[in-house]
Amino acid sequence: MKTIGLIGGMSWESTLTYYKLINTGIKQNLGGLHSAKCLLHSVDFAEIEQLQQQNRWVEAGVLLGKAAAGLQTAGADCILLCTNTMHKCASQITDAITIPFIHIATATAGALLAAGITKVGLLGTRATMQQPFYTQKLTEKGLQVLVPGPEEQQEMNRIIFEELCLGKIEQTSKQACLHMVKQLANQGAEAVILGCTEIGLLVQQADTTVPLFDTTEIHANAAVAFALQ
Ligand code: GLU
Repeated sequence: MKTIGLIGGMSWESTLTYYKLINTGIKQNLGGLHSAKCLLHSVDFAEIEQLQQQNRWVEAGVLLGKAAAGLQTAGADCILLCTNTMHKCASQITDAITIPFIHIATATAGALLAAGITKVGLLGTRATMQQPFYTQKLTEKGLQVLVPGPEEQQEMNRIIFEELCLGKIEQTSKQACLHMVKQLANQGAEAVILGCTEIGLLVQQADTTVPLFDTTEIHANAAVAFALQ
């Protein structure tokens, strides 16, 4: 089994989910007492969020690149960055390592294409929904991407940073999020990407008939497949 390197803490609420899903996946495949070989570098999210706010993405990338290099030195065979948003700094990470970097949006595009989806809605932080670093990874695979309007984007971003990253699950936010899923489906989306690693804490497939693609799950599954390769 290969060793999975995780850069987490963004937020730690979703890193917990990664740890659980990866270990569950290894156990399902190998049975018995098997569990995942993994290394975690968990950052202080307050520092990262400050850099985001101040538009200091390159500095954030330097920090994440160092974390990735440290994981490689410690014995990781691949790197996962446990957040969609910080994939804005993906190239600074890949420049810092020689082991594979499993990109969350590329893994998600693969899952969507395998399911025959061509037009997809995207929910995530404002940066993820608005900036090309993320949507381009989907469109270059031939997917058409729909995002909510500006007010919904603002609300989704608020829910992520003021609630989910702090471990707060509010019913009103759940309804707001499900309403966005429905609106995207009404606009023609065949499925919706939960493009923030904490959204799965708020809404799950059982809450809607619209197919949901949870990036945390997809990313964790891709890591398990890599580890067992
Ligand atoms: N975990 C989130 C994501 O998947 C948001 C936190 C962050 O800004 O990194 O985008």
